[in-house]
Amino acid sequence: MACCDSSDALSLEAAQARLAALPRVCEVESVALADGLGRILAEPVISSVNVPAFDNSAMDGYAVRLADLADSSRLLLAGKAFAGQPFSGQWPAGHCIRIMTGAPLPAGAEAVVMQEQTRVESLAEGGECIHFSATVVAGQNIRRQGEELQPGMPVLAAGIRLTARELPLLATLGVARVRVYRRLRVAFFSSGDELRAVDSELAPGQIVDSNRYAIAALLARMGCEALDLGIIPDDKALLRQAFLHADAEVDVLITSGGVSVGEADYTKEILAELGEVEFWKVAIKPGKPFACGQLTRAARGCWFFGLPGNPVSALVTFVLLVRPALDQLMGAQPKPVLRLPARLAMPVRLSPGRIDFQRGIAELAADGQLQVSSAGGQGSAMFSALSRANCLLRLDPAQHPGERELAAGTCVEIQLFDEVLQ
Ligand code: AMP
Ligand code: MG
Repeated sequence: MACCDSSDALSLEAAQARLAALPRVCEVESVALADGLGRILAEPVISSVNVPAFDNSAMDGYAVRLADLADSSRLLLAGKAFAGQPFSGQWPAGHCIRIMTGAPLPAGAEAVVMQEQTRVESLAEGGECIHFSATVVAGQNIRRQGEELQPGMPVLAAGIRLTARELPLLATLGVARVRVYRRLRVAFFSSGDELRAVDSELAPGQIVDSNRYAIAALLARMGCEALDLGIIPDDKALLRQAFLHADAEVDVLITSGGVSVGEADYTKEILAELGEVEFWKVAIKPGKPFACGQLTRAARGCWFFGLPGNPVSALVTFVLLVRPALDQLMGAQPKPVLRLPARLAMPVRLSPGRIDFQRGIAELAADGQLQVSSAGGQGSAMFSALSRANCLLRLDPAQHPGERELAAGTCVEIQLFDEVLQ
């Protein structure tokens, strides 16, 4: 990646477009379907079977032939068909067959009548007579062989992340092992002289390192193999050593803190010395400073993402920039962000020149419309509003030219938190 002028803030779209061009770095492996959760399909899946595999009943009821019901609304019972136990006897004229949901349709059956539309009469001479109360239409309540999928049909594209929605589909197709990309290996550390572990005694001026808890959780939700490198002080030699360690071990290094323009912000300097650095000011709030690049110039040099230190900025830049970049590196299809219109429940201020991602609470108002209110203090070090929030308000000043504040009732865009943040 080429360097760009750090004095101009990049638009969010431009930054995301650059990250969307990163190459995939993960090789392919085969895993048992039961181990597939969260993995990324490396190859498209084509059906080799019919779904359903055979004609079967969609209801508990009676399988009938229409001719038998042409001049009678009563049929004698000839036998039963259960799921897993097809009917295999004789089916004389004037008879029907009791059938359960999922049972193979007996040969010649043209419809299934649900049992709620029938009445059973026990006959004195033995056996049962079924009375049909509703009109019967050919094909009703029958699931036809191949009506959903047939051999040769594409089912899943490469790049899909396997979830509870895809795994049972693959099982239905008889796919016992899946070809997936290996997990992306990601190291992370927090940088700053002031940072201490959560169980430490804090000296004056020291604070607890909270960012690693956010990053570890986000990486786990994304299915990455994470390597926690701890806290690295603002010390060039130690930072250099951590970078080289990451370069030898992992595909990606994510750091927080030290990417700004302060006097102890060494990250960029060491990156530039070891590899290729690209530093961006992205026109978003929170989270303006963001660094990325490759740690060394080696063919498989580890990718680097440097997040701002402020905890809310670190999390928001991860979600907006690092997450799509990691998806790209691990071979996952880009996940389109669903933006929804919502009415402001309270006035909000706009940030000139950059898109402000405020933490919000979206809910349905009494009139059935989506409405959003602020989740509380919006400072980039204030995490409690984030914990109350269920969405980001996307306040783009370009959509409200000439305005500094939006009144309650104005329509804005929101992005609901998805599985990575929930
Ligand atoms: P920096 O980006 O290093 O200039 O840090 C910006 C602000 O974020 C400072 O107030 C830091 O103390 C704070 N900060 C940096 N890293 C962390 C972290 N890992 N956890 C909590 N706060 C942090
Ligand atoms: Mg710092």
